[in-house]
Amino acid sequence: ALRRTALADHYAAQNLAAPAAMDAFWMPFTANRQFRGTPRLLASAEGMYYRDVDGRQILDGTAGLWCCNAGHARPRIVEAVARQVATLDFAPNFQMGSPLPFVLAERLKAIAPRPLDHVFYTNSGSESVDTALKIALAYHRARGEGQRIRLIGRENAYHGVGFGGISVGGLPNNRKWFGPGLPAVDHLRHTLDIGRNAFSRGLPAHGVELAEDLERLVQLHDASTIAAVIIEPISGSAGVILPPPGYLQRIREICDRHGILLIFDEVITGFGRVGEPFAAQRFGVTPDMMTTAKGLTSGCVPMGAVFVSEMIHRAFMQGADSAIDLFHGYTYTGHPLACAAALATLDTYEEEGLFTRALELEAYWQEGLHALRGKPHVIDIRNYGLIGAVELAPQDGAPGARGYQVLERAFRKGLLVRITGDTVALSPPLIVERRHIDDIFSMLGEVLDGL
Ligand code: PMP
Repeated sequence: ALRRTALADHYAAQNLAAPAAMDAFWMPFTANRQFRGTPRLLASAEGMYYRDVDGRQILDGTAGLWCCNAGHARPRIVEAVARQVATLDFAPNFQMGSPLPFVLAERLKAIAPRPLDHVFYTNSGSESVDTALKIALAYHRARGEGQRIRLIGRENAYHGVGFGGISVGGLPNNRKWFGPGLPAVDHLRHTLDIGRNAFSRGLPAHGVELAEDLERLVQLHDASTIAAVIIEPISGSAGVILPPPGYLQRIREICDRHGILLIFDEVITGFGRVGEPFAAQRFGVTPDMMTTAKGLTSGCVPMGAVFVSEMIHRAFMQGADSAIDLFHGYTYTGHPLACAAALATLDTYEEEGLFTRALELEAYWQEGLHALRGKPHVIDIRNYGLIGAVELAPQDGAPGARGYQVLERAFRKGLLVRITGDTVALSPPLIVERRHIDDIFSMLGEVLDGL
């Protein structure tokens, strides 16, 4: 059921042979058989908009997958990447290097909270998470505390799809197919509590006591066995779960008390999404490591970065001079194209003041979002920075069906949203203007009215 004409035209315009079928590409996190019946195919993007293969304009309500924070096809970024591929397309970074990763690391250090002064590059959020977990284990071992191997995540957390990430992650579907995962892992409860916090604006009032879960796990397992705790300051993929005020502070205090490292997974919250470079700064809580990706290059070239504190870094730098200090890395660590994209992206954020823009628009965003209260099936609305979520009551016996309907109908209307289950999540590029915000909520409102 390929829409032959539109697709064929599109492929022809690009001098490509149209595929005979659509099953050779096994799509990620997708109902592949269902998708082929109603393919949604994006062909181009510029600024706040995508165009699909039929030439229809689609307003980007989710910055791609929470990543295109600077908007699409920004000329400065496009030119930087094009120039770089023609100059130095690839350079190894094992025992040699090239200039850009060093330049970029200084720029990243300058916007990170102190003392997160060191940067390890990866290619994705999943790799950033697994890298941070490995650094945590190796850190304790380097200090003679090799028995600290336990990792603690949270229920409902999303930390990517590596074996480390799904082990500390807490989404059952992402775990149950793939065996036991890492051996010594435990989970805190998450802080989503619609019963007490429905329709909160900004951070939810109730639930700070849930941080005490960590103290309980420390008593259960003994602090001497625990390496690190990993937490999304705001979880995105699980449907936007916000921390009650004081929650992250308490987690930090408990970690400090017991010598446990605290990792913030800022893959979604990093690079301006909540009005500061990182959520750590907005919340006033500094972790020992931060995992990032997505907004680092505004999504245009895959790249991730783990920010590492001075204390952790120092523990690795005390070995004999000739020893490799961390036996870890990727062929594409510090890839020149990714570095060029990231530098041009940071320039764009800075020159256009996009992080403060997110803060300035927050109240307007919140008003528009909460105006959807009262629409059919809406049971909760959550927001922070330029993040929003509308949770719908699941259809009897068919959880997720309503969410999927919204995705499909919004796309047809010309709006890109993200769904997890029956929660509709929004996170527009930070170049969003009031008129786009109006359009997002009026289109979403119409879709909800039709449910
Ligand atoms: N951590 C978090 C908090 C994420 O939201 C994501 C992706 N949505 C990841 C990790 C994984 O990133 P990637 O898909 O780039 O591997």
